[in-house]
Amino acid sequence: MFEPSYIRLFESGELSKRAGILKQMLADCNICPKDCKVNRLENKIAACYSGFNPVVSSYCVHYGEEPTLVGSKEDRNENGVGNIFFGNCNLRCVYCQNYEVSQNHKLEIKNEVTIERLAEIMLELQSKNVNAIGFVSPTHFVPQIVLALELAIPMGLKLPLVYNTNCYDSVEVIKLLNGIIDVYLPDVKYSENEYGYKYSKIKNYVEHSRAALIEMHRQLGSNIVLENGLLRRGLIIRHLILPNDLAGSYETLKFISELDNKIHLSIMSQYYPTHKALTIDLLSRNIREREYEKVLDWMDELNLENGCMQEFESENYYRPDFKDRVEPFKR
Ligand code: SF4
Repeated sequence: MFEPSYIRLFESGELSKRAGILKQMLADCNICPKDCKVNRLENKIAACYSGFNPVVSSYCVHYGEEPTLVGSKEDRNENGVGNIFFGNCNLRCVYCQNYEVSQNHKLEIKNEVTIERLAEIMLELQSKNVNAIGFVSPTHFVPQIVLALELAIPMGLKLPLVYNTNCYDSVEVIKLLNGIIDVYLPDVKYSENEYGYKYSKIKNYVEHSRAALIEMHRQLGSNIVLENGLLRRGLIIRHLILPNDLAGSYETLKFISELDNKIHLSIMSQYYPTHKALTIDLLSRNIREREYEKVLDWMDELNLENGCMQEFESENYYRPDFKDRVEPFKR
């Protein structure tokens, strides 16, 4: 039976030590590469609009992640991931599908919770028999997550933890997560800083996301640990294809192939224009099938061996069955 390594870190006192270091970083916040240097312990707010308390927009059992996380009928473990969706964000993507919670800071103040409540949420999700706990957009709340883990572990938390990130993460913070996070699920968005700035208001996305990826790979390598078909430990790199190749997919794949051509990849085709993208010509349509197939060809060309591809989603993609399979969001 798989036991997450955070249990050992807790028992040795290492988790508590890391929680202390991370909490102290909030005093002069450099939790992400934005390096705002505000005192979030005193609720000073900067680029991510977040003070000390974590903001949880919603949490639910989620069936929209990769199949090895969601589980399957054949293996009788199609139990989904217990996702915790954090509010606010350190990026400002013009096409963000969650913009109502990631970029609506006045609303999100109402969704602040205490560290104790965050721990309770993890345990509540675990009690629903989910396969893992997923932290979605966790970057700006890593210290609070680790503080909550310190409370949740002695109360019985024992599921693998999934770090589902936009990959604009600080290497120092990712190093402190070594052994705490079981599954890294970074979405690598751009290979050119020009587009990172234009569409996500980040000037140095490429170098920071790549440095974070190198550290995630250093920790977990390209081998994945499966138990009864479920992903228990490993790195899966996501990449959302953008229309007109604004994501620079080839260069991203090339970087990954040079790092390790056995890394597991999840190539995502479900982009649809929403939020400000509806008014930006180059982003105002879904991707075409040929754009998707081109990316798959590049994977072959670059000898990337472990792709987890979805079926190409149609031009009129609204994920109808997705809605049916997600339990109602809870505040
Ligand atoms: S976590 Fe927020 S306050 Fe801290 S450096 Fe990043 S954007 Fe700035």
